[in-house]
Amino acid sequence: MHVKKPEPLPLGETKPPRLCAVCGQVSYSLGGVHPQCAQEQADAGRLARIKAEKKAELRDKPRASPTTRPWYKSCPKCRLQMHIRKKACECGYRFR
Ligand SMILES: [Zn+2]
Ligand SMILES: [Zn+2]
Repeated sequence: MHVKKPEPLPLGETKPPRLCAVCGQVSYSLGGVHPQCAQEQADAGRLARIKAEKKAELRDKPRASPTTRPWYKSCPKCRLQMHIRKKACECGYRFR
């Protein structure tokens, strides 16, 4: 049995097109926001939140040295800062 779904589209009851809150383009999606735009916004929000959390974490954590940055270590011999993956310092000190 084949049932054809009627699609009532009464004239005069058409709503004005909603504009996507993210990109400003006309959107017929349920929330008025393009799914991909909503996804983008959610991602941006999540990224911002993660960034803020990381910042707060860095701020709250007592650091051994105020000049120590993530991914950087300092040579115990000459205190020079270098990338954490470097195996030897310019002064000749070798990390284990
Ligand atoms: Zn959009
Ligand atoms: Zn050194």
